[in-house]
Amino acid sequence: MPFISTRGRAPAISLDEAVLSGLAPDGGLYAPASWPTLPETAFAPGLAYAERAALVTDAFAETPEARARWRAGVQAGRAAFPHPAAAPLVQIGDDVWLLELFHGPTRAFKDFAMQLAAAMFDDILEARGEHLLLVTATSGDTGAAAVRAFAGKQRVKLAVLHPEGRVSPVQRLQMTTTDAPNVLNLAVTGDFDDCQALVKRLLGDEHVRASVRLSSVNSINFARLLGQVPYYIAAGAALGGCDGRPIHFVTPTGNMGDVFAGWIARRLGAPIGALTAAVNRNDVLHRALSEGVYRRSHTTPTHSVAMDIQAPSNFERLVFEMSGRDGDLTRDLFETFAASGQVALPQNVLEPLRGSLQTASVDEAACLEAMRRVRAETGVAICPHTAVGVAAAEGAGGSPKVILATAHPAKFPDSVLEATGAPPPVPADIAALDGLPERVVRAAADYETVRDVVLGGFA
Ligand SMILES: *Cc1c(COP(=O)(O)O)cnc(C)c1O
Repeated sequence: MPFISTRGRAPAISLDEAVLSGLAPDGGLYAPASWPTLPETAFAPGLAYAERAALVTDAFAETPEARARWRAGVQAGRAAFPHPAAAPLVQIGDDVWLLELFHGPTRAFKDFAMQLAAAMFDDILEARGEHLLLVTATSGDTGAAAVRAFAGKQRVKLAVLHPEGRVSPVQRLQMTTTDAPNVLNLAVTGDFDDCQALVKRLLGDEHVRASVRLSSVNSINFARLLGQVPYYIAAGAALGGCDGRPIHFVTPTGNMGDVFAGWIARRLGAPIGALTAAVNRNDVLHRALSEGVYRRSHTTPTHSVAMDIQAPSNFERLVFEMSGRDGDLTRDLFETFAASGQVALPQNVLEPLRGSLQTASVDEAACLEAMRRVRAETGVAICPHTAVGVAAAEGAGGSPKVILATAHPAKFPDSVLEATGAPPPVPADIAALDGLPERVVRAAADYETVRDVVLGGFA
């Protein structure tokens, strides 16, 4: 399956090339040239998680060799999840379920994507005899999952930028307590959008690119999406969605990688009815769909820190699809947005967008109330991101409803305590982080400073 750019002006390349490249040279994001179909068995109940996931990668890899390598990557990634179901469902109401995505090494859903991506990066680079510097911005969980997945890999160096003081202590410790020499942590004085802008600039810097092969593992990377599609399909199969009960998935949303994976799962044939992107007060996406104008705005800190994002990078993929895959239109819209901070969405994009995705914005009071209520009613502690999903699901129709539980509550103990009056249960792996030595470099949100630290920091 060749991969093309959402902005229509980059040559088509293979899946493996798209994975190594991150962003396309015309500034767009890579998408498959067409959407494949999955065999019926992919949606049947009772299939092992890794087999379902391999049927997904089979559909995108172009040769038998590539399919075998992706299957091996899927197996390696699956091995990082000790839970026999990988992504278990927990019922919290009549026909309302949590899809627990936090049974991996850093206890957030990003482990699914990152474990697969790390296995594939190392494998693809090994086959080519190449090395790569990965730079990534994180609001907390991406960095932790990346550090854990890439630590000790031979062919990849990883630099992670996080906004200083805006990630939870557990998230920080999961990043900074590694002693792997191929990992570099930067605490940037700024917010997540600053970190993301710095990474974008580094990735586009010709001088830097001339000296080292650069890429990113942010959620624009198609490998990340491939790691997330299978749990939507597995949940659909477990709940018998094939018998004509399309499931309403509610996804706590920041950069839209997770909810776009849901969109892909539906496009591949999973029994998904509605898809809701639940956002916090950082609601640029919600306002874009309701008002028809995509407008940049300042980021407000909330309890659901991993969703404090105002320019969701995967939005471009959805707009590309909704425009009927019109690369020129997509390029115009996102170049206008980048230049002026706002762009009106034309009717021929807005209408299908509204038909394809629902959005809901949840304020802090409703988030805390959802945490309190779920714990009081069911005994289950949920993290603030999951709580945004739960609150959004309350007003939404459709059944059964599945809310993605994106992180373990122990990653956000202060929020859990504030909302419920009791701390969350703490798994042993998280408790063990306390007091370990940390390795992190502080840097101003200034391009030259950050560039020099990243290029010089591994020696
Ligand atoms: C990253 C993250 C999100 C947002 O996911 P996106 O793919 O960026 O939309 C939600 N919850 C948690 C816990 C996360 O780590």
